Amino acid sequence: MSRNPELFERACQTIPGGVNSPVRAFRSVGGAPRFIKRAQGPYMWDADDVRYIDYIGSWGPAILGHAHPEVVRAVQEAAVGGLSFGTPTESEIEIAEAIAARLPSIDKLRLVSSGTEATMTAIRLARGVTGRSKIVKFEGCYHGHADSLLVKAGSGLLTFGTPTSAGVPPEFVQHTLVLEYNKLDAVRAAFEKEGKDIACIIVEPVAGNMNLIKPAPGFLQGLRELCTQYGALLIFDEVMTGFRVGPQGVQGLTGIRPDLTTLAKVIGGGMPVGAFGGRADIMEHIAPLGGVYQAGTLSGNPVAVAAGLATLRLLSAPGFYEHLSAQTAKLAQGLTERARAAGIAFSADHIGGMFGIYFSEQVPTSLAEVSACNVERFKKFFHAMLIKGVHFAPSAFEAGFVSATHDDAVIQATLDAAEQAFAKL
Ligand code: PLP
Repeated sequence: MSRNPELFERACQTIPGGVNSPVRAFRSVGGAPRFIKRAQGPYMWDADDVRYIDYIGSWGPAILGHAHPEVVRAVQEAAVGGLSFGTPTESEIEIAEAIAARLPSIDKLRLVSSGTEATMTAIRLARGVTGRSKIVKFEGCYHGHADSLLVKAGSGLLTFGTPTSAGVPPEFVQHTLVLEYNKLDAVRAAFEKEGKDIACIIVEPVAGNMNLIKPAPGFLQGLRELCTQYGALLIFDEVMTGFRVGPQGVQGLTGIRPDLTTLAKVIGGGMPVGAFGGRADIMEHIAPLGGVYQAGTLSGNPVAVAAGLATLRLLSAPGFYEHLSAQTAKLAQGLTERARAAGIAFSADHIGGMFGIYFSEQVPTSLAEVSACNVERFKKFFHAMLIKGVHFAPSAFEAGFVSATHDDAVIQATLDAAEQAFAKL
């Protein structure tokens, strides 16, 4: 008897839906989630000691593979020195310097404890700096669960078919303009109409919360130009893509410089860390220097920062991203070849250590196209792979993540399992 369903039933007694974050619950794919008790490198083990090759990667942070010895050591050493002080520490300076040194768009940054806090505050800051109320976001992008951003959002909201959350009064989102991703004309039209009231555009510069959707050529550049023309701020939400798609995120790959950047996931190395940063003149509007308030009891937590710093150091190893991208490409190409051989309409895309798999002939370029993919087939594939010990994200609308420990043998084992899974679809 598997312990997973038993644990799930027990969890449901005291935790809503049995989970502390909705997509974990398997509701869109059916069945009981696996309760993971430990993880190492590319693998996780569940309550029954069944091993899985992991492509969730903690939804992004586990870029070095799970429990990297140097990260674990850094955490242990920091923990021995005290878990939290609520005073400044030298390690906070070190991580701020490390991030600012890597991302040219960031002069100054503030640490928080999650991506949600980072985006929520970046929006407040943009409004405070510009004195304007309206913000532009894109359908299918997820920027965490702050009220004004929970409109037509991706991730769990898209997965469960309720893209706009209950409990958010219409007045709270009346200043949120939601536009279609990759449709620059619509953004231009919005600015022509309301440009003087728009504080910022917030965008996932590669969208990873409606499966993986890349920006169309010229889209991000167009957003940059419109923001500059109308005096609005461009916020790149690189919570997912930051240090995941390359050493400088999407901004490094495209050369487009946002005014503000939000980060989380990888910069915490598996511990709760987020950050927002940008030009000094903008960041100086944050308290205690300026009038935009933001604070956090555990912000810059020494144990979390130690994990982040160790992670950032290891990411600087020569060839790190070349290896990560090559492994991700092998996975995406290998899956596509095997699906095609089985006569399944399937495509895959990838960038750095992120990938998307789609049950559609062509790689989708919009939320509409991604929504038209064969979700029923995804569910069957997901379970067929799970039974063979490969754990993808339990949703057709989430990107997947590869770590540096997904070596050739791990990718090959995944592809062997996929060959059998595709044959059964
Ligand atoms: N922004 C993006 C692009 C994300 O992918 C996420 C989480 O998946 C968030 C913000 C919210 O981050 P967190 O879950 O750490 O609050």
